Amino acid sequence: MNGYFVTGTDTGVGKTVLSALLCQALNAHYFKPFQTGQDSDTDTVVRLAGLAPSRVTPPAVHLDAPLAPSQAAEKQAQTLDIAFIALPHTDRPLIVEGAGGALVPIAPGQDMAELMIRFGLPVIVAARSGLGTLNHTLLTLEALRLRGLDVAGVALIGEPNPENRRDIERLGKIPVIIELPVLDPLTPETLRASQASLTLPPKPEAADVAGWDRANVWHPFTQARTAPAPLQAVRGRGSRLFTADGLEIVDLVSSWWVNAHGHAHPDVARAIARQASVLEQALFADFTHEPAARLAHELCALLPGGLERVFFSDNGSTAVEVAVKMAHQYWRNQGRPERNRFAAFEGGYHGDTVGAMSVGLTSGFYKGFEPLTFGVDFLPYPATWHGDESVEEKENRALAVLTNYFTVHAGTVAGVVLEPLVQGASGMRMARPGFVAAVAELTRRAGGLVIFDEVMTGFGRTGTMFACEQAGVAPDIICLAKGLTCGFLPMSVTVATDAIYQAFLGEGFDRALAHGHSFTANPLGCAAALAGLTLFQEESTLSRIAALERVHKARLTALADHPRLHMPRWRGSIGAVNVTGESQGYEAQIGRRLQLYFRERGFYARPMGDVFYILPPYCLTQDELHRAYDVLEDGLRELA
Ligand SMILES: *Cc1c(COP(=O)(O)O)cnc(C)c1O
Repeated sequence: MNGYFVTGTDTGVGKTVLSALLCQALNAHYFKPFQTGQDSDTDTVVRLAGLAPSRVTPPAVHLDAPLAPSQAAEKQAQTLDIAFIALPHTDRPLIVEGAGGALVPIAPGQDMAELMIRFGLPVIVAARSGLGTLNHTLLTLEALRLRGLDVAGVALIGEPNPENRRDIERLGKIPVIIELPVLDPLTPETLRASQASLTLPPKPEAADVAGWDRANVWHPFTQARTAPAPLQAVRGRGSRLFTADGLEIVDLVSSWWVNAHGHAHPDVARAIARQASVLEQALFADFTHEPAARLAHELCALLPGGLERVFFSDNGSTAVEVAVKMAHQYWRNQGRPERNRFAAFEGGYHGDTVGAMSVGLTSGFYKGFEPLTFGVDFLPYPATWHGDESVEEKENRALAVLTNYFTVHAGTVAGVVLEPLVQGASGMRMARPGFVAAVAELTRRAGGLVIFDEVMTGFGRTGTMFACEQAGVAPDIICLAKGLTCGFLPMSVTVATDAIYQAFLGEGFDRALAHGHSFTANPLGCAAALAGLTLFQEESTLSRIAALERVHKARLTALADHPRLHMPRWRGSIGAVNVTGESQGYEAQIGRRLQLYFRERGFYARPMGDVFYILPPYCLTQDELHRAYDVLEDGLRELA
């Protein structure tokens, strides 16, 4: 869409006259979504620019009181929602005139800047030319840019003031597109005459994202020769991603399970921006800082008792890598180097670095890398589902193997690594809390360390803040990553008990944990994480997750007898089911076809082979989740 969104530094600065001028100069279509008060700006623009009726879209909302839209609506006992304001269809350039300034409220959580984002037009700021304009204009520019808006220029209205023009251009790094004197008389003719001084900035050259990507980017977990071209994400909001070709897609997988409260949540975005202006990074060997210390403090308060020491790293794999090295060195520092075996569960996935691959070798992702890994003992995992009648038998068998394992390897096991309740990457394979508790109990009895990989299950994913709460287990080491920064920045933590920490204290460096990354405890990541934790309170996130779980349960229970589905299962925000198709496993065709079917209907799903699952941002509405299940049912019918 071509055109501009016209906003002002204040009300009454001359937005309407400027809009009329732009309509005249660009031969544009005009739309003022909100009209408050008795005077009609639309009538003024029509008269001044001489617009034919076909070149005007009347206001979407008309409110009687000459107030900010939210307050005017309140007076009429009305609630507005910008989701219902559509961009007019027109072949001409479009001039949209806002009401008041950038942060004028429209509805709870919605202001004029939000509408600008929704419309995606570059913004022109109308400002006064005289005293006070520097502050107002620079504030407006800063606010708009922090929201990610593209500001094309400033129009200065009133007596020309060369110093103000110079300073706005220099300090605001923005062109002044016109100095428009107050026109007296204000007529179509005088307006037309002032067009001469209008200089619109050239359109920025379009980025060749697809071409640059094809030429220079290497994508993860992708066979580039056969994979379709990647979708080009340009914007995120709530549960949705928007693409360069105009698609609006509901993200059913939280962008690889990292997103928590929705895409580009403004509170998190602001927290990061604020932190970036204060302290972006300080090496974490000799320094500490408030974001890291506060985050460690808050995490330890949320985690089960005993987990008291937070070690920061950058992603889920490194969180696990650190846990394994920590456990290994713990025993060495204790004078027990013979405790050097690790056990993990069949199907468990723990990341792609070499140590994480070693404990996740049976997840099926590392064909060919086995020679790089160290030996780990793999134990059976009793994956279960709704209506599974053999679950107890499977659990008993798995626990018997574990008991036997500890007898055979008495005194030599360093630790046991487990994804509690849900094995994610191997297909949302779920286990009952009692099994997780029993594994912890047996491991403790055998003297080993209990290491929980909650990289995926942490931060509400399974319905409680951490999955271990449901099993009533406080592990010795817990790995957290994906939801930590609510999807904004790569950061993870490995949290250990004080007993483990104490074992690393001594006079020499040889007892210290010789591990660290350049970006350890990055303040921006910490700020994002803290903002995310606040949102859990402010948005009652755990009760939203409970509501999503009820929908999963209702829909998956109803699908239990579906001829093409089996093993329906859910836990917290996660719902999963296996789909019968031509082939099974990670590359199963039915998954690909379902993915395409969903995409064509505005949903992004990413089945893992024959496992279809939904793991959405917590802001997904129950209606949206219902719709996703409707699409699944339709898809199974049509693809049959
Ligand atoms: C994704 C994942 C990892 C790896 O995390 P990355 O951030 O991708 O390195 C480790 N463990 C589990 C359980 C995961 O789901």
